[in-house]
Amino acid sequence: MKLKLILGLVASFSFAAAQAQITPIPAMVTRAEGEPNTFHELSCKVGRFSFERYTANLPEAFREEAYLLTVTPDGYKIEANTETGKARALQTLRQMDFCGEIFDYPRFAYRGVMLDISRHFRDKDFIIKQMEAMASVKLNVLHLHLTDDAGWRIQIDRYPLLTRRAAWRKGASWKEWQEGGQQYAWMDEEGASGGFLTKDDVREIVAAGERLHIMVIPEIEMPAHSREVVDAYPSLGCREGSEELCPGRETTYDFLENVLGEIIELFPAPYIHVGGDEASRRDWEDCAYCQARMRREGITRISGLQSYLMRRVEDFLHAHGRRLIGWDEMVDYGLTPDATVMSWRGIEGGIEAMKQGHDVIMAPSQWCYINNAQDNPLTEPMGEGGYLSLERIYRYEPFDDVPPEVLKHLLGIQACLWQEHVVTEEATEYMLYPRIMAIAETGWSRAETKNYADFRQRAIRWTDALSIGTLTGKTFHPFNLRREFGERPARRADIDHLAKGCPVQYNMPWSPYYPAYGKTSLTDGRLGGWAYGDGRWQGFYSDVDVVVDLGEVQPIHFVGATFLCQPGPWIFLPSDVTVSVSDDNVHFRQVAVIPQEMLEPVNSYILMGAPVHCEGRYVHFLATRTKEWIFMDELIVN
Ligand SMILES: [Zn+2]
Repeated sequence: MKLKLILGLVASFSFAAAQAQITPIPAMVTRAEGEPNTFHELSCKVGRFSFERYTANLPEAFREEAYLLTVTPDGYKIEANTETGKARALQTLRQMDFCGEIFDYPRFAYRGVMLDISRHFRDKDFIIKQMEAMASVKLNVLHLHLTDDAGWRIQIDRYPLLTRRAAWRKGASWKEWQEGGQQYAWMDEEGASGGFLTKDDVREIVAAGERLHIMVIPEIEMPAHSREVVDAYPSLGCREGSEELCPGRETTYDFLENVLGEIIELFPAPYIHVGGDEASRRDWEDCAYCQARMRREGITRISGLQSYLMRRVEDFLHAHGRRLIGWDEMVDYGLTPDATVMSWRGIEGGIEAMKQGHDVIMAPSQWCYINNAQDNPLTEPMGEGGYLSLERIYRYEPFDDVPPEVLKHLLGIQACLWQEHVVTEEATEYMLYPRIMAIAETGWSRAETKNYADFRQRAIRWTDALSIGTLTGKTFHPFNLRREFGERPARRADIDHLAKGCPVQYNMPWSPYYPAYGKTSLTDGRLGGWAYGDGRWQGFYSDVDVVVDLGEVQPIHFVGATFLCQPGPWIFLPSDVTVSVSDDNVHFRQVAVIPQEMLEPVNSYILMGAPVHCEGRYVHFLATRTKEWIFMDELIVN
């Protein structure tokens, strides 16, 4: 009895120690004595294995990647159902520094990374380099966002202007292009910036995918995010300069089918991603072609045109043996259950889609959009104002809130790197690493085996190996986790002050998009974190005009608040703050005017407050808007 207990402890200890070395954490680890020999292959069998002694009911969809790896002092043995399983075993072998047996298979069949090469182009060598790093942690899908307003990035023979015109712009960076009025250029024009993948480039990327067992999924955006297409081929829009394709004209369908036809020839993946997000449908309202299409097809609402377009595209893909993937807006399009949904606006769209019978890939922006800063935005590259630490990604649990009866539709998870603010190749790698490793582990390993502190140590080792080039033979530019600052210190503990818990009267409402905790938010003692969208910052698309009631007349020595400044997402400091006090909420005496003194807006968290030395019961706090947004977390009175 006692012996059994001791052996049990030893076994579980060994498991924890083994975990600490292999990423992502394998399903089952059994350690043995001796010095491992990971260089000598004793045997390698690829066939049909039941792995019965480990699990009698291994899910069918996983079987593909399952493997059994045995390492002894004499060498190693692999058993795998497929070449993919063997490739995963070899990745594990590279990390083995002990003898023993590993039986392993992924939790999810889909573990992806999306790279947006429209906003800033990346060439085939760079893309293949990232695929090699992905394979080292068993990520198995690369989703390439190939087309968007900022540039078309793939050769299509039938439409040469897509690569002679739509792939080039005035403005090397996305920001310069935006500020210059989103102008396109001819390929050979002086100052033209951009690029595209040739068909040979794509073939090399696909071949690398086959070698590394990574599926490459192309995304061709439609009907929105298509301004570059309409610029090159104006007859595809409702009007010249339109940002969306015209679903009324038949030429649009010819175009889409011709383009997708060439895409299907290039990419062997069973899935083709067709975007489908963020369509304003503005130009469709007064387009004669669109209106005629609605009459002819009996479509009554303008959104029905998008459903019509998506259904036609789905029919075309089906006819060519492919399946459609789209962003979660497409839940409303009435597609067949065969269409797969990528849930980005949170998890709700994904859950709704699963209930409708669609397969779903979870990529909720709150946990998976790695275009957000991974550390203190004051020291990070200019971004979109979000904050998404490695730890937050790692703690995302895809099963949360998903009803058990639809879980079979959850294919997996994906990190998305949108590159509007990611200008250089180095910056792309900085954003990817180590954060995609968290997606890899959540996608592969059982939730109950995950442990952030242990993972963080492995992430440091992984990024070290990437930086010095020992992992793939190429050197990368990852974020240095050792220098991580972490969440804004102010968010870590609540504060106390005279107005805490006091009622606040809003003379101007907060924005319904950024309510934080509503009417208690400015006096709840909770300060915001680095990101304006973290649920603690209250957003105003107006002046902040509030009165706090302290309950009784009392001495006041200080009034102030911290404001966000993040020029990326159009958040600015107020031009000034005016403080007045009153005993009766009718007659106010102005006690301070605090001017804003920043010379140029840069990412910052600025306390605008002043000593006042007066008495009163009501404190009127007026922060005057300069432009766009104001964000504030707490009105502090002392
Ligand atoms: Zn139209």
